Amino acid sequence: MSFTSNYSENIPSSGTVAKVTEGVYWVRMPLPFALDHINLWLLQDKEGWVLVDAGLNNFETRTVWRQIFRGFLKNQKLNRVIVTHFHPDHVGLAGWLCEKFNVELYMPFSEWAYGRMLYGDITKRSQFESIKFYKRAGFKDDFVSKVVSRTKNYRKFVSPLPSSVNKIYDGYTFFVGSDSWEVIIGKGHSPEHACLLCKEKNVLISGDQVLPKISPNISVSPHEPNANPLAEYLFTLDVLRKRVPKRTLTLPSHNWPFLKVHRRIKALELHHKERLTQIEEACRVPTTAVALMEVLFKRKLDSHQIFFAIGETHCPFTSAFILWFNRKSF
Ligand SMILES: [Zn+2]
Repeated sequence: MSFTSNYSENIPSSGTVAKVTEGVYWVRMPLPFALDHINLWLLQDKEGWVLVDAGLNNFETRTVWRQIFRGFLKNQKLNRVIVTHFHPDHVGLAGWLCEKFNVELYMPFSEWAYGRMLYGDITKRSQFESIKFYKRAGFKDDFVSKVVSRTKNYRKFVSPLPSSVNKIYDGYTFFVGSDSWEVIIGKGHSPEHACLLCKEKNVLISGDQVLPKISPNISVSPHEPNANPLAEYLFTLDVLRKRVPKRTLTLPSHNWPFLKVHRRIKALELHHKERLTQIEEACRVPTTAVALMEVLFKRKLDSHQIFFAIGETHCPFTSAFILWFNRKSF
């Protein structure tokens, strides 16, 4: 495939690996959700491979990995595992792979620590905080009771994270083969999401920070109920616009590689501007996050999607930001 390929027609089939460009390979893993896949990346090192993101910890993903060990990675070694952020589809099998290949984990420190925290966070106190959060959003008791069972989900989809990490941070540079990769930290989707830019190859691994087809989930969570992640996310889009060259081949965690990342950044900004205008309009009368969710999401949502949707809607202290952002020109 070349840079001008239509990548949506070249998706690697299960258990296979596709070349994206010299030294950069694409693996696709299944997910048991409406969003049914995640893209992982293998970078060719001098001897062996560097893996970016690991896939969800479940039977299906481990089975696909075993096919790859017998096929593309037969007699090959992994040199390091890099994880962009703590979400289970990215970090889920990192511990399993690090142990199998006896390699170390590279990850932003707060992402690693957040994952470790969630893995161990099964106390009654955290359930109490979650219930308080979803009641404040306007949910009825029957829905809130589902929160209790959901608090164990992280543990279900993540193999134990290594107890030590090599921290990567904004500006951190590492070499794969003779190419240098620079970390650009993004916020809003997760605490310190790592994007990886290789100027020699003209490639950006954008993770979940910039996606070609859907907008990344930008959510307030019970762990930080008064946060304003959307402001952080929009700030990050500006950072990416300044630091990533225009014609950079962008490798996202969902859908397929794409060019014109600057155009996509602008589209994401306009999408949020439109959403914030709708919220500003709906907030002319007192309302709840649940009622606002119905303004923003017209389609029927399953309970998994509702958790994402309410997180996106639940920004109760952001009115000044909405006013500022809606007056900003793009
Ligand atoms: Zn994510």
